[in-house]
Amino acid sequence: MDLFGHLKTYDYGEVHFGLDKATGLKAIVAIHDSRLGPSLGGCRFLPYDTDEAALIDALRLARGMTYKAALAGLKHGGGKSVLIRPRQHFDRVALFRAFGKFIDGLGGHYITAEDSGTGLEDMEVIRTATKHVTGVDVKNGGSGDPSPFTALGVRRGIEACVKHKLGKTTLEGVHVAVQGVGHVGYHLCKELFEAGAKISVADVDPLKAERAHREFKATVVPLDQIFEVACDVIAPCALGSALNDQTIPRLKAKIVAGAANNQLAEPRNGDDLHQRGILYAPDYAINAGGLVNVAQEVTGYDATVSRERTLKIYDTILEIAERSTKLRSPTYRIADILVEEKLAAAAR
Ligand code: NAD
Repeated sequence: MDLFGHLKTYDYGEVHFGLDKATGLKAIVAIHDSRLGPSLGGCRFLPYDTDEAALIDALRLARGMTYKAALAGLKHGGGKSVLIRPRQHFDRVALFRAFGKFIDGLGGHYITAEDSGTGLEDMEVIRTATKHVTGVDVKNGGSGDPSPFTALGVRRGIEACVKHKLGKTTLEGVHVAVQGVGHVGYHLCKELFEAGAKISVADVDPLKAERAHREFKATVVPLDQIFEVACDVIAPCALGSALNDQTIPRLKAKIVAGAANNQLAEPRNGDDLHQRGILYAPDYAINAGGLVNVAQEVTGYDATVSRERTLKIYDTILEIAERSTKLRSPTYRIADILVEEKLAAAAR
């Protein structure tokens, strides 16, 4: 493996490796950038085919966290850890305690949280070995489910897009099609319903779509038709790569603004949206509410502060949209430029 080649490709930074024979711990902590503050990002616990695949996942994800935290105005850099899931039998508690000790050795340079494959119980185990952990139990100062905050931020982002693109100051009567009504999508529909929007939904789980219909009067659309709905806004809230060569030509909406991570299958799809006159709210800018909420745990959790900070996603999305129009440049590039400006200012 070309270790330093990978670090160069992803623009690093530092990487820490932890190995503990007794528990089977094999962990990688990637710290992409800490100019704005200690790095914050979740711990992934998955089986990986190769150590290289685990490293690349950590590098890629930690860099994304730098961008998300910087744009959300957090005093945190981007970090991520990957704990390689052993293929043989293992003691989960011992493994996560060993991981906690490993994190503790980094002296607060990296703060961990939940991610794919980890949950609240794992964070509680980590907490027995280090204080550099978030996503813990509410009764221990944790911030709870991040989804309502993510949804609140997405609603604010949609409002900013609607103001910029449609000249409307409220969501009353605005038609939003939501792909995926899981944790975030459900709360987003609630926000939209309360704001007077008209809602269409699609979900692979018919019970979830049905619940949105029952509670928020949403029209249920077949899965393969959600991108063709004649609506104002399409909100991808399911999987990544929703915006691709197949879906973009079918869009009737003038705005794409949703919670899913990595919505653009390729960066060039962001150019494509721009050329078609569709306003795209960059995913890491609009879906930062959950991160904003969990970051509050570091200084002492306060839901009111989390909410106030999440509401500011409106200003960020509006600034991106305005700059994009002024500079005739796609929004995903503008968002990256805004982050690079913030990081350069912090370095000065
Ligand atoms: P979730 O798993 O609870 O919800 C996803 C929903 O999408 C599920 O109901 C699932 O049935 C549905 N779905 C899957 N494939 C679909 C398809 N092809 N068409 C329609 N529906 C489909 O996940 P979530 O926590 O709500 O997160 C949604 C997205 O937002 C993910 O991409 C996630 O990475 C991102 N995100 C979530 C948060 C958060 O706070 N949970 C924060 C930032 C980003």
